[in-house]
Amino acid sequence: MTTDARILILGGTPEARQLALLLQARAPAPDQVILSFAGAVRDLPETSCEIRVGGFGGAEGLADYLLSRKITALVDATHPFAASISANAQAASSATGIPLLRLLRPAWAPMQGDDWTDCANSAAALEALPASCRPFLALGRQELRQIFSKAAHLPALFRSIEPADFPIPEGWRWIEGRPARSMTAELQLLRDAGITHMVTKNSGGDGAYQKIAAARALQIPVLMVSRPAEPAQAVLPDAEATCDALMAIFTTRS
Ligand code: NAP
Repeated sequence: MTTDARILILGGTPEARQLALLLQARAPAPDQVILSFAGAVRDLPETSCEIRVGGFGGAEGLADYLLSRKITALVDATHPFAASISANAQAASSATGIPLLRLLRPAWAPMQGDDWTDCANSAAALEALPASCRPFLALGRQELRQIFSKAAHLPALFRSIEPADFPIPEGWRWIEGRPARSMTAELQLLRDAGITHMVTKNSGGDGAYQKIAAARALQIPVLMVSRPAEPAQAVLPDAEATCDALMAIFTTRS
């Protein structure tokens, strides 16, 4: 990577962190890779690259940041469901002419034994729950804040990294944490709580997959929230492919 290259990674995913590590290993100076977080969670990664936290102020604010920091390539490595920042990235790239790459991990696909119902969004998924059931709501607290009333009558279990910032319905149980990495732990959670249905988003990736495998093993129906539409552009499936594509851009230029 040449010394004038400066890459902004819009993060909040494991893939963004992996990409930052790969790029750091190739960058002559530490300030050539900037990893950006919205600030939704407190535990930020330890990394030698520059970290910035908080919104830019919409597409215009992002465009201003790209120009003022002399960014030469922008990578949208945000979560598949983070639709606003992806749209802003596209608009800021068009406005400034700074190339944009989209790192988007592939969606999960159902396997034999899965019992999935696709739902257009999280609200539709909660509305599709039977009148009497014990659901595991594997949704973020920010989206639950908007729609929790739709499942307030059910004895639901939900898990989030940060505490809920909405009034938790009386019959609900909240557990703190990230998705478990082991299927045994997810099986135990679903069994112990007597879960009959699962609501989750099609996030893709390995980090949150064990609950899906556990639902399959226990024959629990899954209401699977489909991904929002992406701005039309080519996508790169992982950090390695994105790193190679960036290197190709900088090689062509030099
Ligand atoms: P969103 O709706 O697309 O974004 C809302 C606003 O947050 C954006 O308009 C932007 O503010 C700011 N923002 C988002 N990502 C940012 C980033 N990486 N750096 C700086 N500002 C950012 O996104 P969201 O669904 O709330 O998700 C927020 C963050 O959490 C994302 O970075 C995403 O990768 C991560 N995440 C999301 C989910 C999910 O299910 N949605 C799951 C895991 C992780 P301004 O308009 O002011 O620039």
